[in-house]
Amino acid sequence: MFPAFTPLRGPELELTQRLVQIPSLTPTQPDLLDAVGEALRLCQAAAPSANAYWVAGRDTNPSTRPVFPYEVPNLVLVWGNPQQAGGLCFLGHVDVVPVAKQTWQRNPFGGEIADGILWGRGATDMKGAVAAFLVAAEAVFLQRPERPIYAVITGDEEWGSPAGTLAGLQTLHELGAHPAAFLVGEPSSQQAFGTGLKLGRRGSFNLALTLRGQSGHVAYPALFSNPLEHPQLGPLIGRLATLAFADGNPPSGMPATRATLTSVVADGGSTSIVPASAEMRLNFRYTPQQTPEGLWQQVAALVAEMGLAEWVTITANLAVGRHQNPYLNQPGPLHQALVATLTDLVGAPPRTDAEGGLTDGRHVHKVFPGAEVVECGPPEQPYGAGGMHQADEGIRLDDLANLRHVYQQVMKAL
Ligand SMILES: [Zn+2]
Repeated sequence: MFPAFTPLRGPELELTQRLVQIPSLTPTQPDLLDAVGEALRLCQAAAPSANAYWVAGRDTNPSTRPVFPYEVPNLVLVWGNPQQAGGLCFLGHVDVVPVAKQTWQRNPFGGEIADGILWGRGATDMKGAVAAFLVAAEAVFLQRPERPIYAVITGDEEWGSPAGTLAGLQTLHELGAHPAAFLVGEPSSQQAFGTGLKLGRRGSFNLALTLRGQSGHVAYPALFSNPLEHPQLGPLIGRLATLAFADGNPPSGMPATRATLTSVVADGGSTSIVPASAEMRLNFRYTPQQTPEGLWQQVAALVAEMGLAEWVTITANLAVGRHQNPYLNQPGPLHQALVATLTDLVGAPPRTDAEGGLTDGRHVHKVFPGAEVVECGPPEQPYGAGGMHQADEGIRLDDLANLRHVYQQVMKAL
C-alpha cells in the first residue's frame, strides 16, 4: 500500500510550488494574460514526452458577458498517438481567483512549504492536481507508450470559462482523439483525501425580475407607487424562495433543482425619493431535467397565477450571469478504477455525488457525447480551513503525493 499521511517530496511538489509562484490570476484584463501564459509554458516544459498544441480561445457566445474580447491561451498535451482509441484525458486549469480582498498570513504567491503543507493561491484549486497529473502522465507514458494520454489545461476557468476547455476539447476532436474517459482535477472531497468523487454538477441560470413603481417625493407617498411597499412583494419573495422541484437523482447524489433569491435592490438615489423600480435576482441550480427556458416559464406562470403579470417583468439578466449547463454521468471504467484505487489507499470507498459548484466537466459532452467524466482532486479544505478560494489556501504534501499516485494508477487502467 502507498504510504498515506507521510509527507513526500516528489517532482509534483516542486512543480506545484513553481506554478503557485506565478500569480496567474484569471485573465479578466489583457494585462493578466502573461502570467497565465507563463504557467502554461511551465506545464509544457514538465511534459517533454507530449506533443503540445497551443489553443487561443475566444469568447464567441453572444449570451455571455463580453469579458474576454481577446484571445486566452490554453494548452493541449498529447502523449502518444491520438488516432489510437482509449486513454485518459485530464481537464485542469492554471488560472486562480484573486487574493486582494482576503487577509493572508502566508504569502499567496510565495510557494512556502511549512507544517506539511505547500501554501499559496491555487495549491488546492488546482495547480496541485495539474502538477500531479503531468508527473503521473510522464511516468506512465514512458512505461506504456502504446496508449495515449491527454491533458487540456486552460487559462480561464475561474470566470465562466468562455474561452478555455471547450476550445481545447475541440482541438482534441480535430486531432482525431477518442479518449476513454475524462478526469477533472477539481477538489472533490471535503477535508480528508480520497473520500469523495463527483459524477456531475448542476447547471446555473439567473433570472431578473423588475418590479415597477412610480418615483416621487417621499413626503407624498399617496401620489406615487413604491415597489418596496407593494402588498405582494413579501408573498412573491416567499413563493419564489420555496419553488419546489422533485427532480433530484438520489443514486447519483445530484440534489434537486433549487431557486435562490440572491438580491432585491431598489434605490431612488436619495432618501427623499421613492424608487421607480425594484430588481430581484434569482439563481437556479438545475438538474439535466430542466432547461433555462422551462425555468423561466415556471416563474412566469407563478407571477401570472399571483395576478402580478402587470407589475413584474421577467428577464434573463445576462449582465448578472450566464446559463451554465448541468451534466451527469453513468459511472463507468474510470469511476470503477478510482473507487478501487482510493479504497486501497484510504481504507474505505469514496462517496460519489454530484453536488457543488460548476466545473469545466460540463463542456465534455458538447464535443464527446456520452463520454465518462469523473471529478477527482484534492480535498476542498485540507486542514479544516485554507481551502479553495479561501485565504491561506494550501495543499498537504501527503495529499499531493497520494493524488499523483491515484492518477498514475487509474491512467494504467484505461
Ligand atoms: Zn478549479
